[in-house]
Amino acid sequence: AKSVEEVIDYVFKIVVIGDSGVGKTQLLGRFTKDEFFFDSKSTIGVEFQTRTLLLNRKRIKAQIWDTAGQERYRAITSAYYRGALGAMLVYDITKRSTFDHVARWIDELRANADNSIIVMLIGNKSDLTDKRAVSTADVVEFAEEQGLFFSEASACSGENVESAFLILLEEIYAMVS
Ligand code: GDP
Repeated sequence: AKSVEEVIDYVFKIVVIGDSGVGKTQLLGRFTKDEFFFDSKSTIGVEFQTRTLLLNRKRIKAQIWDTAGQERYRAITSAYYRGALGAMLVYDITKRSTFDHVARWIDELRANADNSIIVMLIGNKSDLTDKRAVSTADVVEFAEEQGLFFSEASACSGENVESAFLILLEEIYAMVS
């Protein structure tokens, strides 16, 4: 039997999506294990990672799914999105094309995920300030129009990673509780 401390009140499934190379796996590693790797190996086989945290006095298990490289072949199946309450949609602030594809990822969410899914748009690699190719102001406006939460973050330095996941989890909690 599980001890009282291990009792989980909620499991929240979150999917991480966005173009290949934007830092999805590293953001997940930063949030669940406080790890970061410059040479990230492909994550074939790893489906999700979890982190349990206390939110509003409830034990919440965040079950965060990684695409495991399938986005390269546009082979993400609807099973990936099934039951997801939240999505982290990631682009790379140093690579304009990854932001240009955000609209396509939103279409993918609309087609496959629940209508009520809460979406957090993340401009990752905010540590690479000299290489910035996407202005923050443009994205703030875009996110407002689309009804998305938005934060820039860096899996490398850790900046804003925790807060972005926490905002998403709190919004999910507010929706389900
Ligand atoms: P994925 O394909 O979206 O899962 O991307 P990865 O997590 O595998 O990251 C792709 C590459 O970008 C790796 O070499 C990472 O080390 C690097 N990377 C990821 N996040 C950051 C970041 O915040 N800053 C910097 N400088 N590099 C990053």
